[in-house]
Amino acid sequence: MTQPFLTLNDGRSMPQLGFGLWQVPAAATANVTMTALRLGYRLVDGAAIYGNEAGQGHGIRASGVPRDQVFVTTKVWNSAQGYDSTLRAAEASLKRLALAHVDLLLIHWPCASRGLYVDTWRALVRLRDEGRALSIGVSNFNAPHLHRIIGETGVVPAVNQIEVNPRLQQPGLRALHAELEIVTQSWTPLGQGRSFAAPPVAAAAARTGKSPAQVILRWHIQTGASVIPRSTRPAGLAENLDIFDFALSEPEMAAIATLDEGARCGPDPATFEMA
Ligand code: NAD
Repeated sequence: MTQPFLTLNDGRSMPQLGFGLWQVPAAATANVTMTALRLGYRLVDGAAIYGNEAGQGHGIRASGVPRDQVFVTTKVWNSAQGYDSTLRAAEASLKRLALAHVDLLLIHWPCASRGLYVDTWRALVRLRDEGRALSIGVSNFNAPHLHRIIGETGVVPAVNQIEVNPRLQQPGLRALHAELEIVTQSWTPLGQGRSFAAPPVAAAAARTGKSPAQVILRWHIQTGASVIPRSTRPAGLAENLDIFDFALSEPEMAAIATLDEGARCGPDPATFEMA
């Protein structure tokens, strides 16, 4: 199985497929991470707020996969926003991960009404310059948030991790990402299963002999997005990795495109402020 890599706008490369650790219990995280890496995943998406960075780090070491072959992401939580507090939060994440650097550090949410995301972004630029994060990006940023950090710092995020699934395809934001050479990374990529039975997905699954989840993950890959599904079961992890031996046709891609309703599973970044 050959896994695709994406080239980021800072010249680094990132595996297109990864696995996510949201809601993975802390006690299970090392084992899930080790299992996923041994199965062949090379990108692990974590966050300070997930409460399982220690397990993320343990699992990476236990996997036996060399550190430089694992792409490690974590995120700065909302309550840590601000320049100095972000520097402290990143150091605390690295300590819990027991790593010298992460491959990607993201601002988890803009929390625009608090007015701290530009200072937070400046701290990420410093952390990148100091080698504590090899690449930096954002999550849940809408167009105005992207324009603002780029306008004030001149630094374009490498990645914007946003909710994308067949019912929420985000065409406007993705066009902006393409223009700015920002990689879209899709969270909740399976959309809580709400499109598994949709005719375009079911038909593609029937034709290819793949599961609806595999069809949807393949759709993400073929749109050019990075995608980070979550499963804690070895069989689920293996299923979600097994998407590189088939392709969706152009009509199948076009049919899945018709499922977009702009309907979110998760919170709206324009208003989400949880500290
Ligand atoms: P997901 O779309 O990956 O779905 C996970 C759910 O689907 C789980 O219930 C899992 O058991 C089930 N599932 C997994 N594989 C399946 C399969 N092959 N067939 C059927 N069911 C399957 O959703 P998610 O966990 O919300 O998102 C993935 C990752 O994205 C998270 O773990 C996290 O790393 C990241 N994320 C980021 C943000 C953010 O704000 N940046 C928000 C949510 C999630």
